[in-house]
Amino acid sequence: MGTISLSEIPSVSLLYKLGKLTAPTATPLHPPKASHNDRVGLIRGDITQLRVGAIVNAANRSLMGGGGVDGAIHRAAGPRLLAECFTLGGCETGSAKITRAYDLPCDRVIHAVGPVYDALSPERARAALEGCYTRSLELAVENKCRSIAFSAISTGVYGYPSDEAAPVAIAAARKFLDGPHGYKMDKIVFCTFEMKDVQAYNQTLPKYFPPTEAAVGPDETTKAEEKKETEQANAVAAELPSVPKSDPSQS
Ligand code: ADP
Repeated sequence: MGTISLSEIPSVSLLYKLGKLTAPTATPLHPPKASHNDRVGLIRGDITQLRVGAIVNAANRSLMGGGGVDGAIHRAAGPRLLAECFTLGGCETGSAKITRAYDLPCDRVIHAVGPVYDALSPERARAALEGCYTRSLELAVENKCRSIAFSAISTGVYGYPSDEAAPVAIAAARKFLDGPHGYKMDKIVFCTFEMKDVQAYNQTLPKYFPPTEAAVGPDETTKAEEKKETEQANAVAAELPSVPKSDPSQS
């Protein structure tokens, strides 16, 4: 199977231009920033195919492999990944650890341990999920990875609702890009797999990364045409006879 390079992953800016993302209906939570929109990517597919700096695995606390995306990553990376994971001594929920990527096309694998969703304490789950994204971004920077692709951590077997998980993931990316280390990352990619996550990201990204005016407003050609039309209308108006100021019967 072919791999996918960073330049083939569409940015939020491009998705607005193509009409695949639309401006939020409510007031966005953050101001638009063109350079952010260029550096956030969204793709649906198999994360093991991405040729990026680091991919983020949705692992479990043992770090010894599992089902879902974890299984796919271990299968594609080969047995040396499991051997390295074995040396790490597991990982706390809400945190992450980094390994080499072996047979995968990316440079590193970050193994993040998301929370099992608990509807009775959603705030605890949210804090742990945020920790996964924040720690993964820190690890990527510490290891000089300039791009990172996240799977939708916890939204599979761990049961985190996609429409609640996507805002946590996207808010963490926005906070990172707005922060002091934001410039150290060229691309933060969200890799979706199931339709429910595709929809959640399409709906949530515009709230945190709204389009800039240039991306949605009239383009330069339209503006020039509008100006010409206004000038023509003014010229026609100037030719019209002036409005009579007195009643004709008086003259
Ligand atoms: P968790 O236990 O954290 O819920 P899962 O692996 O069950 O982890 O699911 C996490 C997310 O990964 C889900 O949204 C699932 O659809 C997605 N997923 C599964 N396989 C892949 C893959 N090969 N590439 C990208 N995402 C995947």
